[in-house]
Amino acid sequence: MKNYKLLTPGPLTTTETVKKEMLFDHCTWDDDYKQITQSIRRQLLSLAHVSEEDYTVVLMQGSGTFGVESVLTSVTGDHDRLLIAANGAYGERMADIASHAGIPFLLYSQSYDKVPDSEEIRVLLEQNPDITHVAMVHSETTSGILNDIASVAKAVKSAGKAFIVDAMSSFGGVDIPVGELGIDFLVSSANKCIQGVPGFSFIICNREKLMESKGKARSLSLDLYDQWETMEKDGKWRFTSPTHVVLAFSQALKELEQEGGIPARSRRYEENNRLLIQRMKQLGIEPYIGSGHQGPIITTFFYPENHSFSFQEMYQYIKDRGYAIYPGKVTEAETFRIGNIGEIYKEDINRLCDILESFLKEKGL
Ligand SMILES: *Cc1c(COP(=O)(O)O)cnc(C)c1O
Repeated sequence: MKNYKLLTPGPLTTTETVKKEMLFDHCTWDDDYKQITQSIRRQLLSLAHVSEEDYTVVLMQGSGTFGVESVLTSVTGDHDRLLIAANGAYGERMADIASHAGIPFLLYSQSYDKVPDSEEIRVLLEQNPDITHVAMVHSETTSGILNDIASVAKAVKSAGKAFIVDAMSSFGGVDIPVGELGIDFLVSSANKCIQGVPGFSFIICNREKLMESKGKARSLSLDLYDQWETMEKDGKWRFTSPTHVVLAFSQALKELEQEGGIPARSRRYEENNRLLIQRMKQLGIEPYIGSGHQGPIITTFFYPENHSFSFQEMYQYIKDRGYAIYPGKVTEAETFRIGNIGEIYKEDINRLCDILESFLKEKGL
């Protein structure tokens, strides 16, 4: 059955109108196309609450990880050192990227069900004055926890360090005052809360910090500064751009605006999430993250007590009835995940919970 909706954290279910934009094969050097790129860049600045004087946007081919790798490997010089705060697989992936590229880093590991602590970060920065950049994830999709970037930003900024945030699964679905927090590089991608399709990531960059990175990149294709320099001229991408994805993204941005911008989308996601957790609890299925730090994007759930079915069995049952869910990713507990972002409404959440309820009944639970 091809006809299911995604309850996964991206790629996610997009609208028909976003998908339809991809039926046209656009020319890449055409002025209209370059204008679409420029307009996307301006709209992203506005969603981030920053001005064109202080910030700029780089679009980068590839999935979200390419964007993170582009930033980490482009903005850290030979004498720089990173502090990476990790409480999930995506934070750990940043450490992986740094290892591969030979970027010196210090890893601050927090357990998956807790947020990185800004006070610990402040102390680490004091003890390690050679650290120049701090990187962390905002919405850790591994667990669904929403990290407190505001309090970490304070510690990072008062220590005078650059701040890199992987806001992949939150930007567009959670309002982020990028300038106010002093985030220097924020990375997200086309197929998460803006509700486009996969194919590129985008980086909201503090202009001054981006200028300082010139010539530092360790990779040719992921060179953030070079990508920016070409794009800044007239909207032309440095190498072949994912044209269909760009057109779909442009439409997705229009639809975000029509919905009422980030505040309205954020409200829809929060309501979906609240309903999901409430109904799951009624089924005896408890969330892994405590309510204080649970984010509105994706939720990790423990299996109900005394269950004996496999994830695959549950997945297939739900898929046959129109929805795709996600396996768990936290290491120390047996869990599964349900995302509530994308073109998903309360009816979908209720429908999913009804399906799960009948599945549990069939299993005698
Ligand atoms: C989706 C995601 C990424 C990027 O993953 P890709 O598979 O490369 O798109 C990075 N960080 C977080 C927190 C994510 O949710």
